[in-house]
Amino acid sequence: MSNTFGQSTVLGYPRIGANRELKKAVEAYWAGKIGAAELENTAAGLRAEVWQQLRNARLDAIPSNTFSYYDHVLDTAVAVGAIPARFTRLGFSGLNTYFAMARGVDAEPALELTKWFATNYHYLVPEIDADTTFTPDPAKPLAEYAEAKALGIETRPVLVGPATFLLLAKGTDPFARLDELVEVYATILNCLADAGVAWVQLDEPAYVADRTLDELDALQRVYTRLGELEHRPKIFVATYFGELGDALPVLLTAPIEAIGVDLVAGPGNLARLIAAGPLGNKTIVAGLVDGHNIWRTDLRAAITTGAAVTALADHVAVSTSCSLLHVPVDLSVETRLAPELFERLAFARQKVDEVVLLGKALRDGTAHVPAPLPAAPAAWRNDDVRARLAALTPADRQRGDYEQRATAQQARLNLPELPTTTIGSFPQTAELRKARAELRAGTLDADGYTERMRSEVEHVIRLQERLGLDVLVHGEPERNDMVQYFGEQLDGFAATDHGWVQSYGSRCVRPPIIYGDVARKTPMTVPWSTFAQSLTAKPVKGMLTGPVTILAWSFVRTDQPLADTADQVGLALRDETTDLQAAGITVIQVDEPALRETLPLRKAAQKAYLDWAVGAFRLATSGVADDTQIHTHLCYSEFGEVITAIDALDADVTSIEASRSKMEVLDDLAAIGYSRGVGPGVWDIHSPRVPSQDEVTESLRRAVGAVPARRLWVNPDCGLKTRGYPETEASLKHLVAAAAAVRGQ
Ligand code: GLN
Ligand code: ZN
Repeated sequence: MSNTFGQSTVLGYPRIGANRELKKAVEAYWAGKIGAAELENTAAGLRAEVWQQLRNARLDAIPSNTFSYYDHVLDTAVAVGAIPARFTRLGFSGLNTYFAMARGVDAEPALELTKWFATNYHYLVPEIDADTTFTPDPAKPLAEYAEAKALGIETRPVLVGPATFLLLAKGTDPFARLDELVEVYATILNCLADAGVAWVQLDEPAYVADRTLDELDALQRVYTRLGELEHRPKIFVATYFGELGDALPVLLTAPIEAIGVDLVAGPGNLARLIAAGPLGNKTIVAGLVDGHNIWRTDLRAAITTGAAVTALADHVAVSTSCSLLHVPVDLSVETRLAPELFERLAFARQKVDEVVLLGKALRDGTAHVPAPLPAAPAAWRNDDVRARLAALTPADRQRGDYEQRATAQQARLNLPELPTTTIGSFPQTAELRKARAELRAGTLDADGYTERMRSEVEHVIRLQERLGLDVLVHGEPERNDMVQYFGEQLDGFAATDHGWVQSYGSRCVRPPIIYGDVARKTPMTVPWSTFAQSLTAKPVKGMLTGPVTILAWSFVRTDQPLADTADQVGLALRDETTDLQAAGITVIQVDEPALRETLPLRKAAQKAYLDWAVGAFRLATSGVADDTQIHTHLCYSEFGEVITAIDALDADVTSIEASRSKMEVLDDLAAIGYSRGVGPGVWDIHSPRVPSQDEVTESLRRAVGAVPARRLWVNPDCGLKTRGYPETEASLKHLVAAAAAVRGQ
């Protein structure tokens, strides 16, 4: 049992497996193809592999309990007994109760899924209410600790800390239950100590956001109480994704042994540590290697920062800035990346090596630190794009007066009141996926593939005509993913073959890498949209992904401000919108479902973010004439104070998720004086359930009460790609009929 922390660690590691083994096993279990024993076997194999890999890399402080069948917040909920009665009532096994909370069952909807801070990972929101009785259940962390120990590997169990756990929970004032919850953590720490655990990691990332004085006091209470326990492991409180601010002194004075600070996303943490003065006996775990992006670390700069921390404290360990959950597993299997890009990248395995190297360098000197890479290749620069950006003026982000636009658009489109439309995608059928697989495998050539996609477009157009929708879409059959699709066509982007990252549960994404200046080579969507438009007299809506969403769902370059990269993407999209217009497309939708996702955690930084985010969207959409109608789509309805940004986008029509929240977003929009077109979703497409015509009518009536009818659009909550055709047809039929019924009144 080691008393000191060690010199190198990671805060967490990808758990899905280098070849997505966990995804495949979990999905096979759900489908009834394998049993619990086989699933558990696969899981144990993956855990052992990770621990052994970390040990072989000579990382000396290795975490455990970072494995999860679905989500680590859900695991923590189970560890503290926060399982809502509606799930225990089902009488399932532990594993099946767990999956029921994650995915829902017929009778019970799942826990809500939401964004893990400003990342693309989603966690399950704990439900804490009056009848939640917290009870310690440390079985999982204990079992993982024992498993690793049996392999001869001493580990540090990781749990979400109690304060962050409750700040992320929903229910009536969960945070009021903190003192009670802390006693459960106290028992868990007792059990861990009994098992021989030397260190435990409690994650408190919620404290890199703005917190009230009460919340800061609570943090102090939690770690005073846990710190004063007689029988416990040493406590490492990890924070990540930003600057600790006022929470730093709280943690520095708490009776705990180690504090983790993110020096990548929160460079200001260094100045705060220095201002706090000599830190004596406390171990500082310095997050020097970016766990949220895929670039190799500037080792010299990291050593300078690390040395500054070392001067302050007796014990300093090097770590990743956050869990490596957010990056792919292994760069070495990527064989198709250009060498000059490959040598600049590091995935989880490579980042572990960097952490180990930095740990050694801080102790033994920098003799073995490799020389820094030369400046980025000149070919990654695009001087035309840079010149265009430099020449932009505010007029390039400004359209004409909205009322004039609305009149011109109506004159051209001649739409009925309460026009009906969809969000873009139609069901991605097995045949479409098969065609893509055949194209990849080389058994279908490009022309054959295009042919199949075109016939799907035609099918979708005919279906919409038959259903009587007013503004049609081409259905997006040709798109694998709304960001990857554009990434593959733009300069400055690279795609990986195996760079999977867990998004939620068994769902993984393969984000493109933006490494250089972004430019459009040729029109990207024009052929599809014009083909679809050629099939019908009704307007077909062009469909693009917005600059903020493209950035949010990619790994971005860090050598220039995000705002500049966003504007480069904005320019490429501007060329696309004007080309669509020139090709006769009259309505163009630019999706920004991620607008809210990458909002900085601290209020002080939000305005600057929204300024460039809105600016890039407007750059993409302001090149068109008054009578071209710009739509945007946002996937959620809770905007909080950033709702004003929706107005600032200046789109002619905004569609928003609204069916679950019963149209509340319309009141929020009215409150800020939003007066342009709005399409509150009237069909919750997240479930296969078909809404009845009456239900849709009811939603529309409520909407007409909040918005003038001439501004109201009728559409589903989101795209239909995950739905099947039977429920799509039935639901759209009800939607069109309901619009007609309300129109007539
Ligand atoms: N146009 C996209 C679709 O319909 C929008 C998806 C999204 O909002 N995430 O699939
Ligand atoms: Zn959506």
